[in-house]
Formats: sequence, structure tokens, C-alpha cells
Amino acid sequence: MSILSRRNLLRGQWRGHDVIRPPWSVDEALFIDGCSRCHACVEACETGVITVSGNQGFPELDFQHAECTFCKRCVEVCPEPIFHSTESQPWQRYAVINQTCLTYQGVACRSCQDACEPYAIKFKLRLGGIAQPEIERESCTGCGGCVRSCPVQAITTRESDKDNDGK
Ligand code: SF4
Ligand code: SF4
Ligand code: SF4
Repeated sequence: MSILSRRNLLRGQWRGHDVIRPPWSVDEALFIDGCSRCHACVEACETGVITVSGNQGFPELDFQHAECTFCKRCVEVCPEPIFHSTESQPWQRYAVINQTCLTYQGVACRSCQDACEPYAIKFKLRLGGIAQPEIERESCTGCGGCVRSCPVQAITTRESDKDNDGK
């Protein structure tokens, strides 16, 4: 891929939705350079969370579809050197709940809490009697399990090194 087309591709991705590569992936530019788009990871993924919905055919995760169990199959089947050691942390990803959460509109809901296996979502009672969710960053694995449980799509995930909000 030429430098220009790669640059355009990366620009498009940064301007669009936050593209989530499989866990343990190397940095985006290296991933794009190294991935041959063979889709072995897509076929191997035990939950089906890896999709090729992006227009360039690179694998990405869709948490509206499924979650990541960190089974490592994607890393193990990939023939290219585009993953870090699975002895390391898979990523610095964590969940974020935005203001469209039903509890901010005064509606009781705890769907995300039930979906979180590590119990990283705690509910705290607020004025008015509606409990609101908070993500416990140190417990959140960024698995995405809570994302599709939310009826109003109030949950996204982000990488902490792209985070400037100091949360
Ligand atoms: S670690 Fe497993 S569940 Fe997660 S993306 Fe890779 S193959 Fe899919
Ligand atoms: S991303 Fe996973 S660990 Fe984090 S809050 Fe959601 S379900 Fe829990
Ligand atoms: S599932 Fe969605 S709407 Fe319900 S409490 Fe969680 S973030 Fe809010």
C-alpha cells in the first residue's frame, strides 16, 4: 500500500468511528501494513465479534454484535507478526457510559450491570432516587460485553492512551 493511500485510510478511520482491532494488536499503522486481510482471525473467533465491515476489509471488532472473551484464537491463527505477546495486557481499553443512559433521563435501568462479568459497573443512588452506573476502571477489561446490553446504545469503549479527559 502506498504511503498516501495508507495515510488516507488512517485519516478516514480516525475521522469515522473508533476502529477496534483485535486484542494484543500492534499500533494501527503497523497493523494496516502487516495484515494481509486473510480473515483467518474472523473465522477463528469464538464469539464472532471480529467483522470485516470496514470498507478496506481489515478485521475489526463490533461490540454491538458480540464481546471479546480474550480466548487468543485470533492471535494464534494469524500468520503475520502484528500481535504483541499474549503474556502482556491485551489492551488499555475500557467502557464509557454517555449522557444518553436512561438513568440520566430519570428512567431506572440496570441492563449493563447484569452483562458485566467482572462486576465493573457499580450503581450509585442519585438525587431523585434513580441509581446511575459508574465504570470501575481498574476492574473493566474492555471486553465489550456491556455494549450491546444497553437499550439506548449509551456505552462505547475507548483506549486509555487516546483519552484526554482525565477520567
Ligand atoms: S481474543 Fe478470542 S473472542 Fe477476542 S477477538 Fe480474538 S478470537 Fe475473538
Ligand atoms: S467492557 Fe466488559 S468489563 Fe468493562 S464494564 Fe463492560 S462488560 Fe464490564
Ligand atoms: S444499560 Fe444503558 S441505559 Fe441502562 S443503565 Fe446501563 S448505560 Fe444506562
